[in-house]
Parts: sequence; structure tokens; C-alpha cells
Amino acid sequence: MLKSDISADVLVIGGGISGILAARLLTDSGLKCVIAESGRICSGVTRNTTAKITVQHGLICSQIAEKYGDDYARMYLNANRLAAEHFEKLAEKIDCEYEKKDSYIYSTNDEKPLYREADVISRIGGEAEFVGNIPLPFYNVGAVCMKNQAQFEPMMFLNEISKGLEIYENTGIIEVEKNTARTVDGKIKAKKIVFAAHFPFINRHGSYFLKMYQSRSYVLALENANSFDGIFMDENKNGFSFRNYKNLLLIGGGAHKTGSPTRADALKDFAEKFYPEAKKVRLWAAQDCITPDGIPYIGNYSANTPDWYVITGFNKWGMTNSMAAAEIIRDKILGKENENADVFDPSRSIFQKQILINGINAVKNLVTPAVKRCPHMGCALKKNELENTWECPCHGSRFSENGELLDNPANCNLECKNKRR
Ligand SMILES: Cc1cc2nc3c(=O)[nH]c(=O)nc-3n(C[C@H](O)[C@H](O)[C@H](O)COP(=O)(O)OP(=O)(O)OC[C@H]3O[C@@H](n4cnc5c(N)ncnc54)[C@H](O)[C@@H]3O)c2cc1C
Repeated sequence: MLKSDISADVLVIGGGISGILAARLLTDSGLKCVIAESGRICSGVTRNTTAKITVQHGLICSQIAEKYGDDYARMYLNANRLAAEHFEKLAEKIDCEYEKKDSYIYSTNDEKPLYREADVISRIGGEAEFVGNIPLPFYNVGAVCMKNQAQFEPMMFLNEISKGLEIYENTGIIEVEKNTARTVDGKIKAKKIVFAAHFPFINRHGSYFLKMYQSRSYVLALENANSFDGIFMDENKNGFSFRNYKNLLLIGGGAHKTGSPTRADALKDFAEKFYPEAKKVRLWAAQDCITPDGIPYIGNYSANTPDWYVITGFNKWGMTNSMAAAEIIRDKILGKENENADVFDPSRSIFQKQILINGINAVKNLVTPAVKRCPHMGCALKKNELENTWECPCHGSRFSENGELLDNPANCNLECKNKRR
């Protein structure tokens, strides 16, 4: 825990995979870089990941090509492809259960979007093909396959990557003013500040509270179920994903907006229908920041804060995107051009339908009478009976039954008396 005032070239706020990779690349470039982490490193979302290192993020390439054109789709693919290669190179020297796997995005009802995705990927220089016969336990019309993707054990990897970094755990940042960040017991002055805290928590710049919402989904680990040779994801956001971990089948799914009723039962129902003999070993949840166009926000925090950078909005795909982010932020801080950075620019248009919906929902929840309110912006909290938590339907902050902060952007416990950050 930081107990005094310090200074650095770069302060990275948040010690998940994004913060650690950014700090690693910046430190290796010769900068004095410190990480401030409010809990223990990797105690946030990264701890629970299933860690598929794939550049196949749903049907993202055709979606970007349609919305912004081929050049932007190419930047997205290339940034993530370079990131995947970077992981592969580092994993050669780190014992982290890195394994190559082919990756599939399947559909249960319509092959046209799959063909479209495969076409766009080929057109922008990637390799993908439509395959018609996918060995899933239910009817499907085929998949887009990208070969030679991977999966790994990120805790083993990050344990090695973080060695030698200057890290202050139990050091939550409460406030940031220009080049100074304040913790409970000290100040950190830095020439540059990188917000890698999952959801950016300074509201007066960047409007991230409008530009994102959070989604919860679940993973069910089954013993005595299928072994899949590959990693499989449904193109439909209500569908399921599959990968194996040792003798376990990990099924992902049940996504819903944080703060709305849980859909974890969808996974249990699926398992009971297709794997009645299997043993349910564990169920846990993911918490993801969702952007309106499916592209993360990586770059300058806002036009008014030239020394602040942000890494957020991974839309469920934090492995390659965090490495891509680390490379882009390093280049920006070093003043080097990064040819893939533009597609992630956080200042891209905020005039989108989803942003309007986010705003309307927030206003509705602000005026809803409630037992408990979120210290972030005052929205009415909803009880999640399954996880025994209080959740904000506006921006996705979560609190334990006793009011302890579990997930940001709120920056303190429910009562805000004993500020953790
Ligand atoms: C079940 C599950 C399955 C997933 N599967 C995949 C997958 O297969 N492939 C893939 O690419 N991605 C996957 N993801 C997503 C991926 O794991 C995440 O996108 C990624 O881990 C997010 O990393 P992060 O560093 O941005 O956030 P985090 O790991 O949450 O790190 C942010 C850190 O910031 C700290 N912090 C917050 N506020 C402050 C503050 N004020 N001061 C200091 N510190 C602060 C937090 O304590 C936290 O440690 C999955 C996620 C889950 C949970």
C-alpha cells in the first residue's frame, strides 16, 4: 500500500491484464512506470476469465466494415493479430498452459452472416473459411473458422509478466486532477496517466458513463461432458460458447445487462438437456464493458486531458484487445505512430442509438425510488438474489450484501464512509 507521495513518468491505474501489459511495455521502453491497484493485482475481471486468445470476436470484422469501411476493419484485425502473435512469442518462455486451438463462430439458424464475415476477413488480409459440419451437440448451420488461435492460463502468464514492475496494491485512486492522482494515504504525480481500471471512473471527461454499459454472463464448468477440439462461440449474443480446460467443459452464456434479472439458469438448463450425466462443478460470472459499436475505447481519455489515456470497452474480448491496447498506449506515450490506433479512438461519434438508450435508462433509474443508491451517479440499485449483491442497472457497479464495492465505476463502498479507493 502506498503511504507517501511519489512521482513517475507514467501512472497506470488498475492491475488487471490491461494495466499489467501496459506497464510492462512502458517499463521495457525505459519509462518509470507505477501501477496503483485498489485490491490485489488480477483481483478484478481478469481473475475469472476463460482466456481464449482469439482474434475472432463474434462477427466484428463485417460489422466494422459495414459501419466504418474496410480500412477500419483491417486495423481492428491487424491490431488483434499482432497482439495474438505477441502473446505467442512471450508464451514460448513462460509456463502458462498456452495451447493452439482453432476458433469457430457458429450460427444455429443463418449461414449468410458467417459467409459475410469470412469474406470480409479474407478481403482485409486475414484467413478464415466457412465450415459446414460443426461437432456441437445441437443443430447448427456451420461456422466461420480461424485456425491457430489459442487458449492459456492468464494468472501463470501475468505472474511472470508482472515481475519487476513497481506495483502498489491496496492503493485505490480516489481522484485525479491533471497530473496528480490521490489515494487514501498519498499522491502520485505522473507525466502521463493510463486508466486501466476496467470502467473509467472520472465522469467529468470522456462521458464513458454514457458511452458504455456493463453486461453479466456466466460460465458453467462440467465434469464428464464433451471434449471439444477447438473453441466455439455462437454469433448470437444469447447463445453459448465452449472450450475445455483439462477434464472440464466450460460453457459460457446467459448474458444480460448488469442490474437486470439474471439468466444464469439458461446455462443450467442447457447442461441438463445436453449433458444430463455431467457433474456441475462450478458456476461463475463475467462482467464486461459493452460499447455501442463493439470496438474498445483505447487512446486519449478525452480532448481536454492530453496526458490521460484510457483502456476499456473490451466487449467480452479482453485478451488480444488488452495486448493491442498496451501496444497502442505505449506508442502514443512514446510519440510513435501506430497504424492501427484510429479504429479504437475513444472520441469517435457518440451519436448512436445505444448511447441514447443508455442515457434514457440512467435518467429513469435516477428518478426511481429505491432502498439503496449507487455512489457513482445516484441510480437506484437492484438486488441480485443469485449472487447476493446490489447492482446498478445504469453503469453496472456492484456491491456485496454488506455494501462493499465489487465492481466499478463506483469508486467507494455503498455508504462511502470507509473509502476503499
Ligand atoms: C468468465 C469470463 C470469461 C472471459 N472469457 C474471455 C475470453 O475467452 N477471451 C477474451 O479475450 N476475454 C475474455 N473475458 C474478458 C476478459 O477477461 C476481460 O476483458 C479482461 O480480463 C479485463 O481486464 P482489465 O484489466 O480491463 O480489467 P480488470 O481485470 O477488472 O482490471 C481492472 C483493475 O482495476 C482495479 N481498479 C478499479 N478501480 C480502481 C481505482 N480507482 N484505483 C486503482 N485500481 C482500480 C480493479 O481492482 C481491477 O483489478 C472473459 C471474462 C470473464 C470474467
